[in-house]
Amino acid sequence: MTVIDLRSDTVTQPTPGMLDAMATAVSGDDVYGEDPTVNRLEAELAKRLGFAAALFVPTGTMSNLLALMAHCERGEEYIVGQQAHTYKYEGGGAAVLGSIQPQPLEVQADGSLDLDQVLAAIKPDDFHFARTRLLALENTMQGKVLPMEYLAAARAFTREHDLALHLDGARIYNAAVKLGVDAREIAQYFDSVSVCLSKGLGAPIGSVLCGSTALIAKARRLRKMVGGGMRQAGSLAAAGLYALEHQVQRLAEDHANAQWLADGLRQAGYEVEPVQTNMVYVQVGSLAEELKAFAATRGIKLSAAPRLRMVTHLDVSRAQIEQVVATFAEFSRKRQCRPSN
Ligand SMILES: *Cc1c(COP(=O)(O)O)cnc(C)c1O
Repeated sequence: MTVIDLRSDTVTQPTPGMLDAMATAVSGDDVYGEDPTVNRLEAELAKRLGFAAALFVPTGTMSNLLALMAHCERGEEYIVGQQAHTYKYEGGGAAVLGSIQPQPLEVQADGSLDLDQVLAAIKPDDFHFARTRLLALENTMQGKVLPMEYLAAARAFTREHDLALHLDGARIYNAAVKLGVDAREIAQYFDSVSVCLSKGLGAPIGSVLCGSTALIAKARRLRKMVGGGMRQAGSLAAAGLYALEHQVQRLAEDHANAQWLADGLRQAGYEVEPVQTNMVYVQVGSLAEELKAFAATRGIKLSAAPRLRMVTHLDVSRAQIEQVVATFAEFSRKRQCRPSN
């Protein structure tokens, strides 16, 4: 039975073309700056996103951490979404390893942070307070694309208030494909952008942090410190280059599949949030564990949460989405005819 894994877009296997690119990649020692493929990936992504420099790292968590630590010194502060990855899902790394104080704010319905609330959270220049240095946004945020006008406003806001602006752009290409713009148009508003190659783009591992030459030089020093200096990483970088070359535009298929899934689940009676990119959120309440177990018997891997997230990616076809919809419909029928419930 082929497994349909909807837990995340991190679960993809490298495609044959990607494996070929990895197998034939030229490598060198990247800590010495001598891996030509890593250098090419860094230069390529910096160019694509309009930055002077870039740094290849093993994970998005490390990429964000290095960005936060490169922007903020000990005792400084960054403003971030309460539900943002850098705040909630990275082990508190900014605080633990960077001595950076997070100032979390509730994320708005559209995935943005309200700039009036951000303004109110900026600390005055007073020795009682941590120094507010940075605003960190995420795009896409739980599958939602931040509006371009909002990005421009956030940019102007941070210039006015002397803050740096970082983007956790783990899924910046999902946002770009959805908007039909070049990713550079999104990136242009930020002082640094972290991009995951290992999500929808389909590489097995790796993220890239983009920024100014000075910021990336600082991040490179920090990368060595946290143990992220890799040696012959060329084959991994080759996977990333292949993904950028061949697996960006196809994200539109994942978005269409997510929409298809949402429509099918609604028809089956489920309460589904509006879909923008490759994430589908369904209310399953207290049935989460039971649904997960039932789906597993049909070869479908789900997370278990009352607000269940399902993520489409290159290893899930339209036909498989139809199987998922049928399984959910069957589950719902089963539940309804059970007398005890
Ligand atoms: C996945 C992800 C990251 C980084 O995750 P890693 O697993 O460390 O590569 C960062 N931000 C967001 C929004 C993510 O989804």
